Amino acid sequence: MYGDTIAAIATPVGPGGIGIIRISGPNAINILTAIFKKTPSQNSCNINSSTAPQKNKNRRLIYGNIIDKEKGHIIDEALVAYMPAPHSYTKEDVVEIQLHSGAVTLQQVLTLVFQQGARNAEPGEFTKRAFLNGRIDLSQAEAVMDIIAAKTDQSLRIATEQLKGSLSHTLSELISQLDHALAILEADIEFEAEIEAPLDRNQILSAIEQSVLQPLEQLIASYDDGHLIREGVRLVILGRPNVGKSSLLNRLLEQERAIVTEFPGTTRDSIEETLNLFGLPVVLVDTAGWHQTMDPIEKIGISRAKKQIENAELILFVIDAKRGVCDEDRHIFRYIQKKKKILVVNKSDLLPKSAEIKIPDEWKDLRAVAVSAQKNTGMENLKKEIFQRSIKGDMFKETGIVTNSRHVALLRNSKKATIEALEGIRNNLPSELIALDIKEGVNQLRGITGENISNDVLDQIFGRFCIGK
Ligand code: GDP
Repeated sequence: MYGDTIAAIATPVGPGGIGIIRISGPNAINILTAIFKKTPSQNSCNINSSTAPQKNKNRRLIYGNIIDKEKGHIIDEALVAYMPAPHSYTKEDVVEIQLHSGAVTLQQVLTLVFQQGARNAEPGEFTKRAFLNGRIDLSQAEAVMDIIAAKTDQSLRIATEQLKGSLSHTLSELISQLDHALAILEADIEFEAEIEAPLDRNQILSAIEQSVLQPLEQLIASYDDGHLIREGVRLVILGRPNVGKSSLLNRLLEQERAIVTEFPGTTRDSIEETLNLFGLPVVLVDTAGWHQTMDPIEKIGISRAKKQIENAELILFVIDAKRGVCDEDRHIFRYIQKKKKILVVNKSDLLPKSAEIKIPDEWKDLRAVAVSAQKNTGMENLKKEIFQRSIKGDMFKETGIVTNSRHVALLRNSKKATIEALEGIRNNLPSELIALDIKEGVNQLRGITGENISNDVLDQIFGRFCIGK
């Protein structure tokens, strides 16, 4: 538990129905008592008294006013809730003050709270305290952020499962298997001379293979889909001028628009829009800026375009059905030869029914979809193709999917150590050496739940949260 009390505005700042200030720490209730006056009609709770509130009166909303006692005036009406430790978000005493959501109101009340001794909470500090005080493990704390950032129903479901502890549970099973093997090996090391029957190494080997290595491999493989479900498939629409890229983009957007994310300014000078494609977030990287002003081949030379192509998981390579394949198309194809792509034959409405366009031999392996962005035909096929090319497994299972790059890196390390332990057993190495690898495998898994995590890593993780969370 921490000695200091933290506070922050927990809701987005701006005009709105309700704005909430959250306070956590040993002084939370004293601070509230100093600035809050309940309306006289509400005598059911002694929150203004100097004694601690009665147990059964907590966790209720109490109506009253926030008062600046120095100036002697009311700042705002408020509903307040007191959640005593340990049954709160942080496991500390927590107070939440609901106010009218105006920037000035919230700021004035927060200033009063600071005057009473609280300090400004850092980004993610409430959740960090929930983790450090042992209410949730690190993978669950990370799930909180995933819930806030979830782009589709499916990404939300997986994050919710993770918050409930599904990943932690799987990991603890793996850890207990490894611990079991370790205990056998350690007994062998300690009592080698006294044990009559030699250690059955084959039994340990097959137990680790089946109960640790295979599940680890499945978890690692699930990340291929998992990171796309969490972060979205980055999709770039590419093609020479006038093939209908903007029309296609608009078509996809008008049908599937879910969230619009804009990143103006210097760090990311492109607009990204996230579509919800059958539950899969697809981040459309808007290339509008490049194709109106520059020839795509010159454009490819510029680093921003290069980077976007490099980072794309999938490219919609658009050609014009009426015009057929031309040199510029071939040039673009060569540039994106190694990328995963779908050939989109647009303007198919301009082709006579039975006509087919001639495709160069080296394009023969490309999956092609004929569409008309203008007449809105072929779009369902295109969407299905985008989905099928992006996702390998069953996207709709909710557990056993790893979505976080930090987690997969640690799982890979754990797998490496586990394989080394297995090699050691096969090669009849001394139990001490095998035990070292198994310990390393366990350590890596514990990093996911945060049992042995450095402060730097914690700061990095929680620094990405918003203030008040
Ligand atoms: P971009 O330069 O690749 O972004 O191409 P645009 O989307 O601006 O389209 C170029 C022109 O082609 C416009 O006049 C569009 O109306 C037209 N166009 C786009 N898609 C189709 C289509 O499917 N069929 C027909 N007939 N015209 C299209």
